[in-house]
Amino acid sequence: MTRREAYDYGVEQLEEQGIDDAACDIRILLEDLCGVDREELFINGDKTISRKETETFMNAVTRRCGHYPVQYITGKQDFMGLTFSVNQDVLIPRMDTEILVEEVLKNLDDGSRILDMCTGSGCILLSLLRYSNNCEGVGVDVSDAALEVARDNAGRLALDETFDLLFTTGGAGAKHLDLDKIEFIESNLFNDVKGKFDIIVSNPPYIRTDVIPTLMEEVRDYEPMLALDGREDGLYFYREIIKKSPQYLSGGGKLFFEIGYDQAADVVKLMEEAGFKDVVVVKDYAHLDRVVWGRI
Ligand code: GLN
Repeated sequence: MTRREAYDYGVEQLEEQGIDDAACDIRILLEDLCGVDREELFINGDKTISRKETETFMNAVTRRCGHYPVQYITGKQDFMGLTFSVNQDVLIPRMDTEILVEEVLKNLDDGSRILDMCTGSGCILLSLLRYSNNCEGVGVDVSDAALEVARDNAGRLALDETFDLLFTTGGAGAKHLDLDKIEFIESNLFNDVKGKFDIIVSNPPYIRTDVIPTLMEEVRDYEPMLALDGREDGLYFYREIIKKSPQYLSGGGKLFFEIGYDQAADVVKLMEEAGFKDVVVVKDYAHLDRVVWGRI
């Protein structure tokens, strides 16, 4: 079978199952399978794929037809221009979350100590460290399996040689990751966290339990429930983190959250009641409320 035939077959199968973005998904699967970029895939569309590759591809198409996320098939997702490993133990990094990272970066000093609560794949913390200077980071998660992914991501990003090339051309003053300045700890929220931080950032689970059955199959059936479920009113983790954060923030320290589109008023109120000042809401590119932050 040629690459082009595989592409046409895959797109047709996914479209039959009503998968949105069938063409995009199949392109990503084939690029991953053949180890090539988009141009190369189609320029050499008449190249045949081996029997073994065909088998792997057919398997991937079958899984995707069952709404299994593409990112769990390829094992990766780009975020903030970096490639993160993912598996079913972690939430797939979302573009929406880049708004949170960018907002923190705008308000971050060199050498800050950063805590990422509910770190999952580590995408938030590792991006912050990669695009800042001399910061130290602690990533916390209740799931040991998630932390394994986060540690793997830290190790891989620290070695990523393409990075400097990318950023000397891009002109940003980014540095390699320094593994000595990163720690991942297993803890139920703040239970095992020690020390003070200049920044606490979190994209906690925030979906109301009664909304979970209405989520896309991709999310509901395959992403970790632990990373999604914000309990009865969706605000459980905001409440807990806001309550404890003042103890863990240095004077003037900042707390940043990603929020669901309808949670801004509640989270602002919780932060103000806990003594946070200058609490602001930042919108995402879809003009939905996405980030809330303030200082203590
Ligand atoms: N911090 C991770 C992310 O933003 C995981 C978030 C979570 O598990 N709720 O992707």
